[in-house]
Amino acid sequence: TTGTETREFQAEVKQLLNIVIHSLYTDREIFLRELISNAADALEKLRYQKITTKEIADGDLPLEITLELDEDGHTLAITDTGIGMTRDELAENLGTIAHSGSKAFFQYLAEGDKKDVSLIGQFGVGFYAAFMVADEVTVFSRSYNPEAAGCIWTSDGTGSYTLGEAEGLKRGTKIVLRLKEDAHEFAKADVIKRIIKQYSSFVPFAILVNGEKVDTVQALWTKNKKEVTPEEYTEFYKYIANAYDEPLFKLHFSVDAPLAINALLFVPKDHFERLGFGRLEPGVNLYCRKVLIQQQSKEILPEWLRFIKGVVDSEELPLNISRETMQDSALLAKLRKVITGRFLKFLSEQASKDPEKYKEFWRNFSMFIKEGAATDFAYRNDLVKLMRFESSKAGEGELVALQNYVERMKEDQKHIYYINGPTREVIEASPYLEIFWKKEIEVLYTNEAVDDYILSQLGEFEGKKLVSVDQAELDLPEGETDTPDRETLSQEQFEKLAGWLKEVLGKKIVEVRESKRLEDNPAIVLNQDSFTSSMQRMMQMANK
Ligand code: ADP
Ligand code: MG
Repeated sequence: TTGTETREFQAEVKQLLNIVIHSLYTDREIFLRELISNAADALEKLRYQKITTKEIADGDLPLEITLELDEDGHTLAITDTGIGMTRDELAENLGTIAHSGSKAFFQYLAEGDKKDVSLIGQFGVGFYAAFMVADEVTVFSRSYNPEAAGCIWTSDGTGSYTLGEAEGLKRGTKIVLRLKEDAHEFAKADVIKRIIKQYSSFVPFAILVNGEKVDTVQALWTKNKKEVTPEEYTEFYKYIANAYDEPLFKLHFSVDAPLAINALLFVPKDHFERLGFGRLEPGVNLYCRKVLIQQQSKEILPEWLRFIKGVVDSEELPLNISRETMQDSALLAKLRKVITGRFLKFLSEQASKDPEKYKEFWRNFSMFIKEGAATDFAYRNDLVKLMRFESSKAGEGELVALQNYVERMKEDQKHIYYINGPTREVIEASPYLEIFWKKEIEVLYTNEAVDDYILSQLGEFEGKKLVSVDQAELDLPEGETDTPDRETLSQEQFEKLAGWLKEVLGKKIVEVRESKRLEDNPAIVLNQDSFTSSMQRMMQMANK
């Protein structure tokens, strides 16, 4: 098609726009951050194309972002000389939502107690934030592909958009917002400059407002650690993670061997996956000499580290590498190994340096460490060391590592014992623990079936077998109190009782045994195979 046409938005987009247009919001100025970040993305992509592609439309245009404000006409225009969009790309990118972002965002808005539309960028639908302040948005775009014609897209955000051809456009994208009556302030230069400073100060391209250049800051990760202030780190974190608070952890490092890497990684304070609002996308961008190669790279870290935000820059990545060959690239595998190893080492250092802070980390991010320990064999041994448990010898709120347990094991104790239960109270009321109280042997408490899965897969830690206390064979150290000085059943009485129990319980049990581990409780159910009760429950559920 070449003529002008009107098209309906995809249903998800309509729903999203309806929320964006009608919701009350305090931070609507973030629309500008979203548009500038799209412009910067488009420029980064262009920079990449310049290195790899011969023919680029308007090859001499400077790479920059220009804002033109018309206070009297109540419009704001933002122009970039980036990669641009073809007609099809306009329809695809600004009319449909291909990824799961919008669904997670709706769910978040519907269920969250704080209805914060400003998180829109984190869900990958940032462009539509323009409709928070504009009642009409017009996009002029011309692709870097010299063959493609310039196009115009326009919409009032209510249900459809029009798409047509436009003459005389230079490469890149110009977005014109007709500001709503209550949003006229966004045509004021001082307001816009303040917002740019606040949200976009690390954009690595010149930004001009009505012809005047706004100061931006250089790529922090390439700087020397000693030259970066804590405030700069925090600002950078806010920029790359679309965050509003400080990060919990920061790791800035460079290595020369086996690969030259500059990396700046952050752990946020919290994340929405923990609350059940969808799955986090990877948060680390891959650069080569400040040129973006891959945004939110899936290759640079294992999936279970998807909560990390940051930047990895390696000079050794060839720029003209395609994504397909990158996936198999041995180079990337090497990068991933170095960065993962470095990050896990960092976590374990933090855990001993500042246990309280590590506890905060564990509270919100344990699910990822466990996911890794359960699924990623290569890192299991490192990850179990980062796991923390409640225990029979730890006070309320205190957490124990396997290492702590082993260090304070009784001399004649051979194994590491653990028990699963939903809460500390339930576990401590359990008859399984009776013998351990009596013998003063520490038992670790696990709260989730995945804990038991990990421990049983692990089998042993530092040469000590990991044993669930509901196993029949405990192999406890012997003690003087083992034979209670009270009346016991005669052989005949025991056999009669056992026979009756077998008759009543039938196939539910394998055998009835006389036990030495009980004192106050008359009987307990034990496991003979290597699956703990919590894992059996999990398997039963899976089989249903
Ligand atoms: P995201 O940036 O997370 O992908 P957005 O809703 O902000 O989500 O943008 C959707 C898509 O529209 C982008 O991925 C990009 O392909 C395209 N796009 C938006 N703005 C521009 C622009 N200025 N230049 C080129 N493409 C753009
Ligand atoms: Mg965006």
